Amino acid sequence: MAGANGTAGDVVVRVDRARCVGTGLCAATAPDDLALGEDGRARVRRQVTVSGEELTEAAEMCPVEAITVRSALDGRRIAPAL
Ligand code: SF4
Repeated sequence: MAGANGTAGDVVVRVDRARCVGTGLCAATAPDDLALGEDGRARVRRQVTVSGEELTEAAEMCPVEAITVRSALDGRRIAPAL
């Protein structure tokens, strides 16, 4: 069953910008989906995107766990791992 926000494999990416400390690791790892904003904190380039290794790796490596990747279908958290 597809939800309103996407199809199987789509994910929703969020960055808690208040938590971000601006290392740039995520933007270097998943540049299609994440970038550093002018304020030096990460921002999402595509809120709904397809799940990919680079994106989940970026969420896993963020030192302050500011990035979350969830299934667009059911909200299940994909990364970082619980
Ligand atoms: S890896 Fe985390 S702390 Fe570093 S820029 Fe990305 S969101 Fe911010």
